[in-house]
Amino acid sequence: MNYQTVIGLEIHVELTTKSKIFCGCKNEAKAKPNENICPTCMGYPGTLPRLNEKVVDYGLKAALALECQVPKNTHMDRKHYFYPDLPKGYQITQATKPLGINGKLYLEKADKIVRIQRIHMEEDTAKMMHRGETTEIDYNRSGVPLIEIVTAPDISNEVELLEFLDELKNLLAFLEISDLKMEEGSLRCDLNINVVDKERGSKTPVMEVKNLNSFKGALKATLYEEKRLTEALVNNKELPKETRGWDQKKEKTLSLRKKEDSQGYQYFIEPEILPLAISQRKIQNTHNRMRELPQKRRNRFKKQYDLPDYDVGILTKNPYVADFFEQAVLVCYAPKRISNWIMTQLLSEMDQGLDGFKDLALKPKDFGKLMAMMEEGEIPKKIGERILREILISGESPEKILKNRKLGPITDEKEILGMVKDLLASHPEALEDYWIKPEKTLRFFMGKGMEKSSGRLEPERLKAALMEALSEKNSERSDEK
Ligand code: ZN
Ligand code: MN
Repeated sequence: MNYQTVIGLEIHVELTTKSKIFCGCKNEAKAKPNENICPTCMGYPGTLPRLNEKVVDYGLKAALALECQVPKNTHMDRKHYFYPDLPKGYQITQATKPLGINGKLYLEKADKIVRIQRIHMEEDTAKMMHRGETTEIDYNRSGVPLIEIVTAPDISNEVELLEFLDELKNLLAFLEISDLKMEEGSLRCDLNINVVDKERGSKTPVMEVKNLNSFKGALKATLYEEKRLTEALVNNKELPKETRGWDQKKEKTLSLRKKEDSQGYQYFIEPEILPLAISQRKIQNTHNRMRELPQKRRNRFKKQYDLPDYDVGILTKNPYVADFFEQAVLVCYAPKRISNWIMTQLLSEMDQGLDGFKDLALKPKDFGKLMAMMEEGEIPKKIGERILREILISGESPEKILKNRKLGPITDEKEILGMVKDLLASHPEALEDYWIKPEKTLRFFMGKGMEKSSGRLEPERLKAALMEALSEKNSERSDEK
Protein backbone atom coordinates (compact mmCIF):
# COMPACT_ATOMS: atom_id res chain seq x y z
CA MET A 1 0.00 0.00 0.00
CA ASN A 2 1.81 3.04 -1.25
CA TYR A 3 -0.52 5.58 -2.76
CA GLN A 4 0.55 8.99 -3.88
CA THR A 5 -1.83 11.87 -4.60
CA VAL A 6 -0.88 14.13 -7.49
CA ILE A 7 -2.45 17.58 -7.71
CA GLY A 8 -2.17 20.36 -10.25
CA LEU A 9 -4.16 23.60 -10.18
CA GLU A 10 -5.72 25.94 -12.69
CA ILE A 11 -6.45 29.27 -11.13
CA HIS A 12 -8.50 32.02 -12.71
CA VAL A 13 -7.92 35.50 -11.34
CA GLU A 14 -10.24 38.38 -12.25
CA LEU A 15 -8.25 41.54 -12.81
CA THR A 16 -9.37 44.86 -11.33
CA THR A 17 -8.83 47.00 -14.44
CA LYS A 18 -11.30 49.86 -14.85
CA SER A 19 -12.70 48.53 -18.13
CA LYS A 20 -13.17 45.09 -19.66
CA ILE A 21 -10.56 43.29 -21.76
CA PHE A 22 -11.86 43.96 -25.29
CA CYS A 23 -14.31 46.88 -24.93
CA GLY A 24 -14.83 50.04 -22.91
CA CYS A 25 -17.54 48.65 -20.63
CA LYS A 26 -17.00 49.14 -16.93
CA ASN A 27 -15.43 46.24 -15.08
CA GLU A 28 -17.22 46.36 -11.75
CA ALA A 29 -18.77 43.65 -9.66
CA LYS A 30 -21.45 45.76 -8.03
CA ALA A 31 -23.69 46.58 -10.99
CA LYS A 32 -27.28 45.67 -11.81
CA PRO A 33 -27.55 42.60 -14.07
CA ASN A 34 -26.72 43.42 -17.71
CA GLU A 35 -25.84 47.01 -16.92
CA ASN A 36 -22.27 46.95 -18.21
CA ILE A 37 -22.69 45.48 -21.66
CA CYS A 38 -22.20 46.52 -25.29
CA PRO A 39 -22.30 44.78 -28.70
CA THR A 40 -18.63 43.70 -28.34
CA CYS A 41 -18.94 41.89 -25.02
CA MET A 42 -22.33 40.57 -26.14
CA GLY A 43 -20.51 38.91 -29.05
CA TYR A 44 -22.46 40.57 -31.87
CA PRO A 45 -21.19 39.84 -35.37
CA GLY A 46 -19.22 42.69 -36.90
CA THR A 47 -17.89 44.13 -33.65
CA LEU A 48 -14.13 44.47 -33.21
CA PRO A 49 -12.33 43.60 -29.99
CA ARG A 50 -9.54 45.94 -28.84
CA LEU A 51 -7.08 44.63 -26.29
CA ASN A 52 -6.94 46.67 -23.05
CA GLU A 53 -3.26 47.47 -22.41
CA LYS A 54 -3.75 47.41 -18.64
CA VAL A 55 -4.62 43.72 -18.86
CA VAL A 56 -1.22 43.05 -20.44
CA ASP A 57 0.45 45.13 -17.70
CA TYR A 58 -1.32 43.25 -14.93
CA GLY A 59 -0.69 39.87 -16.52
CA LEU A 60 2.95 40.74 -16.97
CA LYS A 61 3.25 41.65 -13.30
CA ALA A 62 1.89 38.24 -12.33
CA ALA A 63 4.18 36.47 -14.81
CA LEU A 64 7.25 38.26 -13.47
CA ALA A 65 6.29 37.76 -9.82
CA LEU A 66 6.01 34.03 -10.51
CA GLU A 67 9.41 34.09 -12.20
CA CYS A 68 8.07 33.11 -15.62
CA GLN A 69 9.81 33.48 -18.95
CA VAL A 70 7.99 36.07 -21.04
CA PRO A 71 8.03 35.64 -24.83
CA LYS A 72 9.13 38.54 -27.08
CA ASN A 73 6.04 38.07 -29.21
CA THR A 74 2.65 36.76 -28.33
CA HIS A 75 -0.92 36.81 -29.60
CA MET A 76 -4.48 35.91 -28.66
CA ASP A 77 -6.28 32.75 -29.83
CA ARG A 78 -9.86 31.67 -30.31
CA LYS A 79 -11.03 28.67 -28.32
CA HIS A 80 -14.28 27.39 -29.78
CA TYR A 81 -17.06 25.89 -27.80
CA PHE A 82 -20.76 26.47 -27.61
CA TYR A 83 -22.38 27.47 -24.37
CA PRO A 84 -24.95 30.18 -23.57
CA ASP A 85 -22.52 32.03 -21.29
CA LEU A 86 -20.28 32.63 -24.33
CA PRO A 87 -22.36 34.42 -26.98
CA LYS A 88 -19.63 34.56 -29.67
CA GLY A 89 -19.27 30.77 -29.69
CA TYR A 90 -15.59 31.09 -28.84
CA GLN A 91 -13.50 32.50 -26.01
CA ILE A 92 -10.60 34.82 -26.79
CA THR A 93 -7.69 33.40 -24.82
CA GLN A 94 -4.06 32.42 -25.31
CA ALA A 95 -3.20 28.89 -26.36
CA THR A 96 0.17 28.46 -28.03
CA LYS A 97 1.98 31.58 -26.80
CA PRO A 98 0.98 32.42 -23.24
CA LEU A 99 2.23 35.56 -21.51
CA GLY A 100 4.47 33.52 -19.21
CA ILE A 101 5.87 29.98 -19.06
CA ASN A 102 8.14 27.93 -16.79
CA GLY A 103 7.69 29.92 -13.61
CA LYS A 104 7.74 28.78 -10.01
CA LEU A 105 6.45 29.47 -6.53
CA TYR A 106 8.42 28.36 -3.50
CA LEU A 107 6.57 26.97 -0.47
CA GLU A 108 8.57 27.74 2.66
CA LYS A 109 6.84 25.39 5.09
CA ALA A 110 6.79 22.42 2.73
CA ASP A 111 10.26 23.46 1.47
CA LYS A 112 9.18 22.72 -2.06
CA ILE A 113 8.99 24.41 -5.41
CA VAL A 114 5.71 24.26 -7.30
CA ARG A 115 6.36 24.81 -10.99
CA ILE A 116 4.11 27.20 -12.87
CA GLN A 117 3.56 25.84 -16.37
CA ARG A 118 1.90 28.90 -17.81
CA ILE A 119 0.04 32.15 -17.26
CA HIS A 120 -2.24 33.47 -19.95
CA MET A 121 -4.76 36.26 -20.49
CA GLU A 122 -8.37 35.61 -21.45
CA GLU A 123 -11.89 36.93 -21.19
CA ASP A 124 -14.37 35.78 -18.56
CA THR A 125 -17.74 34.40 -19.61
CA ALA A 126 -21.22 35.55 -18.59
CA LYS A 127 -22.77 34.34 -15.36
CA MET A 128 -25.68 31.91 -15.49
CA MET A 129 -28.21 31.64 -12.68
CA HIS A 130 -30.51 28.68 -12.65
CA ARG A 131 -33.90 29.30 -11.09
CA GLY A 132 -36.16 26.30 -11.26
CA GLU A 133 -37.11 25.74 -14.90
CA THR A 134 -35.49 28.92 -16.20
CA THR A 135 -31.93 30.14 -16.48
CA GLU A 136 -31.03 33.83 -16.30
CA ILE A 137 -27.85 35.15 -17.86
CA ASP A 138 -25.97 38.22 -16.66
CA TYR A 139 -23.47 39.46 -19.28
CA ASN A 140 -21.75 41.95 -16.97
CA ARG A 141 -19.03 39.38 -16.41
CA SER A 142 -18.65 38.65 -20.12
CA GLY A 143 -15.34 40.22 -21.14
CA VAL A 144 -14.02 40.79 -17.63
CA PRO A 145 -10.26 40.28 -17.87
CA LEU A 146 -8.74 37.15 -16.39
CA ILE A 147 -5.37 35.61 -16.01
CA GLU A 148 -5.22 31.86 -15.77
CA ILE A 149 -2.34 30.34 -13.83
CA VAL A 150 -1.62 26.66 -14.46
CA THR A 151 0.71 24.70 -12.17
CA ALA A 152 2.58 21.50 -12.86
CA PRO A 153 1.23 18.49 -10.90
CA ASP A 154 3.67 19.19 -8.06
CA ILE A 155 1.30 19.34 -5.10
CA SER A 156 1.13 16.10 -3.08
CA ASN A 157 -1.36 16.68 -0.29
CA GLU A 158 -3.89 19.05 1.21
CA VAL A 159 -1.32 20.79 3.43
CA GLU A 160 0.76 21.74 0.42
CA LEU A 161 -2.38 22.73 -1.44
CA LEU A 162 -3.38 25.18 1.28
CA GLU A 163 0.11 26.62 1.56
CA PHE A 164 0.24 27.10 -2.20
CA LEU A 165 -3.11 28.91 -2.32
CA ASP A 166 -2.17 31.05 0.66
CA GLU A 167 1.20 31.96 -0.78
CA LEU A 168 -0.22 32.69 -4.23
CA LYS A 169 -2.94 34.89 -2.79
CA ASN A 170 -0.36 36.72 -0.67
CA LEU A 171 1.83 37.27 -3.75
CA LEU A 172 -1.02 38.51 -5.93
CA ALA A 173 -2.16 40.87 -3.16
CA PHE A 174 1.20 42.61 -3.35
CA LEU A 175 0.74 43.16 -7.09
CA GLU A 176 -2.62 44.92 -6.61
CA ILE A 177 -4.10 43.41 -9.75
CA SER A 178 -7.18 41.70 -8.26
CA ASP A 179 -9.42 41.97 -5.23
CA LEU A 180 -8.92 38.20 -4.73
CA LYS A 181 -12.35 37.60 -3.23
CA MET A 182 -12.75 33.88 -3.59
CA GLU A 183 -16.35 33.81 -2.38
CA GLU A 184 -17.27 36.42 -5.01
CA GLY A 185 -15.52 34.51 -7.78
CA SER A 186 -12.58 36.82 -8.39
CA LEU A 187 -10.21 33.99 -7.51
CA ARG A 188 -11.41 30.61 -8.80
CA CYS A 189 -9.56 27.40 -8.48
CA ASP A 190 -9.93 24.15 -10.43
CA LEU A 191 -8.26 21.00 -9.23
CA ASN A 192 -6.63 18.34 -11.40
CA ILE A 193 -6.17 15.31 -9.23
CA ASN A 194 -5.25 11.66 -9.56
CA VAL A 195 -3.86 8.93 -7.33
CA VAL A 196 -0.92 6.68 -8.22
CA ASP A 197 -0.27 3.22 -6.78
CA LYS A 198 3.50 3.39 -6.56
CA GLU A 199 3.95 -0.34 -5.94
CA ARG A 200 1.96 -1.60 -8.90
CA GLY A 201 2.50 1.43 -11.12
CA SER A 202 -1.20 1.79 -11.81
CA LYS A 203 -3.01 5.10 -11.58
CA THR A 204 -6.44 6.64 -11.89
CA PRO A 205 -7.35 9.06 -14.68
CA VAL A 206 -6.94 12.75 -13.87
CA MET A 207 -10.17 14.23 -12.56
CA GLU A 208 -10.91 17.90 -12.94
CA VAL A 209 -12.89 19.43 -10.08
CA LYS A 210 -14.49 22.84 -10.63
CA ASN A 211 -16.44 25.42 -8.61
CA LEU A 212 -14.12 25.65 -5.65
CA ASN A 213 -14.95 29.02 -4.18
CA SER A 214 -13.13 28.87 -0.88
CA PHE A 215 -9.91 27.43 0.54
CA LYS A 216 -12.09 25.20 2.68
CA GLY A 217 -13.95 23.94 -0.39
CA ALA A 218 -10.67 23.22 -2.17
CA LEU A 219 -9.46 21.31 0.86
CA LYS A 220 -12.63 19.26 1.27
CA ALA A 221 -12.86 18.46 -2.44
CA THR A 222 -9.24 17.26 -2.40
CA LEU A 223 -9.85 14.97 0.56
CA TYR A 224 -13.05 13.67 -1.02
CA GLU A 225 -11.44 12.87 -4.39
CA GLU A 226 -8.34 11.43 -2.74
CA LYS A 227 -10.51 8.94 -0.91
CA ARG A 228 -12.70 8.14 -3.92
CA LEU A 229 -9.74 7.60 -6.24
CA THR A 230 -7.73 5.56 -3.74
CA GLU A 231 -10.72 3.27 -3.17
CA ALA A 232 -11.05 2.77 -6.93
CA LEU A 233 -7.38 1.75 -7.10
CA VAL A 234 -7.72 -0.63 -4.16
CA ASN A 235 -10.79 -2.27 -5.73
CA ASN A 236 -9.35 -2.28 -9.27
CA LYS A 237 -12.31 -0.22 -10.37
CA GLU A 238 -12.01 1.63 -13.70
CA LEU A 239 -13.12 5.25 -13.54
CA PRO A 240 -13.91 7.49 -16.52
CA LYS A 241 -11.95 10.72 -16.99
CA GLU A 242 -14.37 13.40 -15.88
CA THR A 243 -15.00 17.01 -15.12
CA ARG A 244 -16.62 17.11 -11.71
CA GLY A 245 -18.10 19.86 -9.60
CA TRP A 246 -17.87 20.43 -5.86
CA ASP A 247 -21.27 20.46 -4.23
CA GLN A 248 -20.89 22.61 -1.14
CA LYS A 249 -24.12 21.46 0.47
CA LYS A 250 -23.71 17.74 -0.07
CA GLU A 251 -19.96 18.00 0.57
CA LYS A 252 -19.13 15.76 -2.36
CA THR A 253 -17.96 15.99 -5.95
CA LEU A 254 -20.48 15.19 -8.69
CA SER A 255 -19.90 14.35 -12.33
CA LEU A 256 -20.57 17.30 -14.68
CA ARG A 257 -19.45 15.75 -17.95
CA LYS A 258 -17.03 13.29 -19.47
CA LYS A 259 -13.87 15.22 -20.25
CA GLU A 260 -13.94 16.65 -23.77
CA ASP A 261 -10.92 16.21 -26.00
CA SER A 262 -9.01 19.49 -26.09
CA GLN A 263 -8.68 19.17 -29.91
CA GLY A 264 -12.38 19.80 -30.10
CA TYR A 265 -11.72 23.46 -29.34
CA GLN A 266 -10.44 24.16 -32.89
CA TYR A 267 -7.94 26.78 -31.69
CA PHE A 268 -6.67 29.36 -34.13
CA ILE A 269 -5.03 32.78 -33.88
CA GLU A 270 -7.55 35.56 -33.22
CA PRO A 271 -7.33 37.48 -36.50
CA GLU A 272 -8.89 40.68 -35.20
CA ILE A 273 -6.29 41.44 -32.55
CA LEU A 274 -2.78 42.36 -33.63
CA PRO A 275 0.07 40.24 -32.34
CA LEU A 276 1.72 41.71 -29.29
CA ALA A 277 5.44 42.50 -28.91
CA ILE A 278 6.77 42.65 -25.37
CA SER A 279 9.98 44.62 -25.21
CA GLN A 280 12.77 44.13 -22.72
CA ARG A 281 12.17 47.71 -21.67
CA LYS A 282 8.53 47.04 -20.85
CA ILE A 283 9.55 44.07 -18.75
CA GLN A 284 12.16 46.14 -16.93
CA ASN A 285 9.67 48.97 -16.32
CA THR A 286 7.11 46.58 -14.95
CA HIS A 287 9.72 45.04 -12.68
CA ASN A 288 10.73 48.44 -11.35
CA ARG A 289 7.15 49.37 -10.52
CA MET A 290 6.52 46.21 -8.49
CA ARG A 291 6.58 46.20 -4.71
CA GLU A 292 9.05 44.01 -2.88
CA LEU A 293 7.28 40.63 -2.86
CA PRO A 294 6.05 38.96 0.34
CA GLN A 295 8.62 36.17 0.65
CA LYS A 296 11.52 38.58 0.29
CA ARG A 297 9.84 41.06 2.56
CA ARG A 298 9.21 38.48 5.27
CA ASN A 299 12.87 37.53 5.34
CA ARG A 300 13.97 41.15 5.44
CA PHE A 301 11.51 42.01 8.24
CA LYS A 302 12.87 39.14 10.35
CA LYS A 303 16.46 40.27 9.94
CA GLN A 304 16.12 44.03 9.83
CA TYR A 305 13.58 44.46 12.66
CA ASP A 306 14.31 41.32 14.63
CA LEU A 307 10.63 40.39 14.79
CA PRO A 308 9.16 36.95 15.59
CA ASP A 309 7.75 34.85 12.72
CA TYR A 310 4.21 35.39 13.95
CA ASP A 311 4.45 39.19 13.73
CA VAL A 312 6.16 39.05 10.35
CA GLY A 313 3.43 36.75 9.01
CA ILE A 314 0.69 39.22 9.90
CA LEU A 315 2.59 42.35 8.85
CA THR A 316 3.25 40.94 5.37
CA LYS A 317 -0.17 39.38 4.70
CA ASN A 318 -1.22 42.49 2.89
CA PRO A 319 0.88 45.18 1.18
CA TYR A 320 -0.86 48.09 2.90
CA VAL A 321 -0.06 46.75 6.36
CA ALA A 322 3.57 46.10 5.39
CA ASP A 323 3.94 49.63 3.99
CA PHE A 324 2.13 51.14 6.98
CA PHE A 325 4.43 49.35 9.41
CA GLU A 326 7.60 50.44 7.66
CA GLN A 327 6.51 54.06 7.34
CA ALA A 328 5.65 54.19 11.05
CA VAL A 329 9.01 52.66 11.94
CA LEU A 330 10.73 55.45 9.99
CA VAL A 331 9.16 57.96 12.39
CA CYS A 332 9.71 55.98 15.58
CA TYR A 333 12.26 53.20 15.59
CA ALA A 334 10.42 50.84 17.93
CA PRO A 335 9.53 47.93 15.59
CA LYS A 336 8.24 45.57 18.26
CA ARG A 337 6.05 48.19 19.94
CA ILE A 338 4.65 49.22 16.54
CA SER A 339 4.05 45.62 15.55
CA ASN A 340 2.25 44.93 18.85
CA TRP A 341 0.07 48.00 18.52
CA ILE A 342 -0.86 47.14 14.95
CA MET A 343 -1.79 43.57 15.88
CA THR A 344 -3.73 44.42 19.06
CA GLN A 345 -4.97 47.99 19.64
CA LEU A 346 -5.23 49.00 15.98
CA LEU A 347 -6.74 45.82 14.54
CA SER A 348 -9.28 45.54 17.34
CA GLU A 349 -10.61 49.00 16.40
CA MET A 350 -11.02 48.08 12.72
CA ASP A 351 -14.03 46.09 11.53
CA GLN A 352 -12.52 45.21 8.16
CA GLY A 353 -9.37 43.68 9.63
CA LEU A 354 -6.18 43.83 7.60
CA ASP A 355 -8.02 44.92 4.44
CA GLY A 356 -9.03 48.14 6.18
CA PHE A 357 -5.44 49.40 6.01
CA LYS A 358 -5.96 50.40 2.39
CA ASP A 359 -8.00 53.47 3.28
CA LEU A 360 -7.25 54.15 6.88
CA ALA A 361 -7.86 57.70 8.22
CA LEU A 362 -4.80 57.18 10.41
CA LYS A 363 -1.59 58.11 8.59
CA PRO A 364 1.43 55.87 9.29
CA LYS A 365 3.43 59.00 10.12
CA ASP A 366 0.93 59.95 12.85
CA PHE A 367 0.91 56.41 14.16
CA GLY A 368 4.70 56.63 14.40
CA LYS A 369 4.41 59.95 16.28
CA LEU A 370 1.93 58.46 18.72
CA MET A 371 4.30 55.54 19.34
CA ALA A 372 7.15 58.01 19.92
CA MET A 373 5.08 59.88 22.53
CA MET A 374 4.75 56.65 24.51
CA GLU A 375 8.29 55.54 23.83
CA GLU A 376 9.53 58.82 25.32
CA GLY A 377 7.17 58.65 28.30
CA GLU A 378 5.19 61.76 27.31
CA ILE A 379 1.89 59.94 27.63
CA PRO A 380 0.81 56.70 29.33
CA LYS A 381 -0.57 53.76 27.34
CA LYS A 382 -4.18 54.50 28.34
CA ILE A 383 -3.97 57.97 26.80
CA GLY A 384 -2.26 56.52 23.74
CA GLU A 385 -5.21 54.19 23.22
CA ARG A 386 -7.69 57.05 23.52
CA ILE A 387 -5.78 59.19 21.05
CA LEU A 388 -5.61 56.26 18.64
CA ARG A 389 -9.39 55.86 18.77
CA GLU A 390 -9.79 59.59 18.11
CA ILE A 391 -7.46 59.61 15.10
CA LEU A 392 -9.21 56.64 13.53
CA ILE A 393 -12.37 58.73 13.43
CA SER A 394 -11.08 62.27 12.84
CA GLY A 395 -7.78 61.63 11.04
CA GLU A 396 -6.20 64.48 13.08
CA SER A 397 -2.61 64.42 14.24
CA PRO A 398 -1.88 63.03 17.72
CA GLU A 399 -0.32 66.33 18.88
CA LYS A 400 -3.45 68.25 17.93
CA ILE A 401 -5.75 65.79 19.68
CA LEU A 402 -3.58 65.84 22.76
CA LYS A 403 -3.69 69.66 22.87
CA ASN A 404 -7.33 70.29 21.89
CA ARG A 405 -9.03 67.49 23.77
CA LYS A 406 -6.97 67.82 26.96
CA LEU A 407 -5.85 64.24 26.94
CA GLY A 408 -2.32 64.80 28.14
CA PRO A 409 -1.21 64.15 31.73
CA ILE A 410 -2.11 66.86 34.24
CA THR A 411 1.10 68.32 35.59
CA ASP A 412 -0.02 71.60 37.14
CA GLU A 413 0.29 71.22 40.95
CA LYS A 414 -2.48 73.72 41.71
CA GLU A 415 -4.88 72.07 39.27
CA ILE A 416 -4.20 68.70 40.85
CA LEU A 417 -4.65 70.02 44.38
CA GLY A 418 -7.92 71.68 43.34
CA MET A 419 -9.19 68.41 41.88
CA VAL A 420 -8.23 66.52 45.02
CA LYS A 421 -10.02 69.01 47.29
CA ASP A 422 -13.19 68.68 45.24
CA LEU A 423 -12.83 64.95 45.54
CA LEU A 424 -12.61 65.05 49.35
CA ALA A 425 -15.55 67.46 49.54
CA SER A 426 -17.79 65.22 47.45
CA HIS A 427 -17.14 62.13 49.62
CA PRO A 428 -17.54 63.36 53.25
CA GLU A 429 -18.32 59.88 54.65
CA ALA A 430 -15.16 58.45 53.12
CA LEU A 431 -13.19 61.34 54.55
CA GLU A 432 -14.61 60.54 58.01
CA ASP A 433 -13.40 56.96 57.55
CA TYR A 434 -9.90 58.14 56.86
CA TRP A 435 -9.24 58.78 60.51
CA ILE A 436 -10.10 55.17 61.28
CA LYS A 437 -8.66 53.26 58.31
CA PRO A 438 -6.27 55.57 56.49
CA GLU A 439 -4.74 52.97 54.12
CA LYS A 440 -8.04 51.80 52.73
CA THR A 441 -9.45 55.29 52.38
CA LEU A 442 -6.35 56.50 50.59
CA ARG A 443 -6.76 53.69 48.09
CA PHE A 444 -10.41 54.68 47.65
CA PHE A 445 -9.50 58.29 46.87
CA MET A 446 -6.68 57.23 44.56
CA GLY A 447 -9.15 55.15 42.57
CA LYS A 448 -11.69 57.97 42.43
CA GLY A 449 -8.99 60.42 41.33
CA MET A 450 -7.78 58.20 38.49
CA GLU A 451 -11.33 57.60 37.38
CA LYS A 452 -12.29 61.26 37.48
CA SER A 453 -9.25 62.32 35.44
CA SER A 454 -9.64 59.40 32.97
CA GLY A 455 -6.13 58.28 33.70
CA ARG A 456 -4.62 61.70 33.11
CA LEU A 457 -3.36 61.98 36.71
CA GLU A 458 -0.10 60.25 37.41
CA PRO A 459 -0.37 58.08 40.54
CA GLU A 460 2.64 59.62 42.37
CA ARG A 461 1.42 63.16 41.83
CA LEU A 462 -2.09 62.23 42.86
CA LYS A 463 -0.87 60.55 46.02
CA ALA A 464 1.31 63.53 46.98
CA ALA A 465 -1.62 65.92 46.46
CA LEU A 466 -3.95 63.67 48.45
CA MET A 467 -1.52 63.50 51.35
CA GLU A 468 -1.22 67.26 51.31
CA ALA A 469 -4.98 67.85 51.22
CA LEU A 470 -5.56 65.26 53.95
CA SER A 471 -2.99 66.75 56.28
CA GLU A 472 -4.64 70.14 55.75
CA LYS A 473 -7.99 68.57 56.71
CA ASN A 474 -6.31 67.02 59.72
CA SER A 475 -5.08 70.34 60.99
CA GLU A 476 -8.51 71.91 60.41
CA ARG A 477 -9.89 69.01 62.40
CA SER A 478 -7.50 69.49 65.35
CA ASP A 479 -8.30 73.24 65.31
CA GLU A 480 -11.96 72.48 65.72
CA LYS A 481 -11.29 70.40 68.81
ZN1 ZN B 1 -18.72 45.72 -23.61
MN1 MN C 1 -9.54 29.47 -18.62
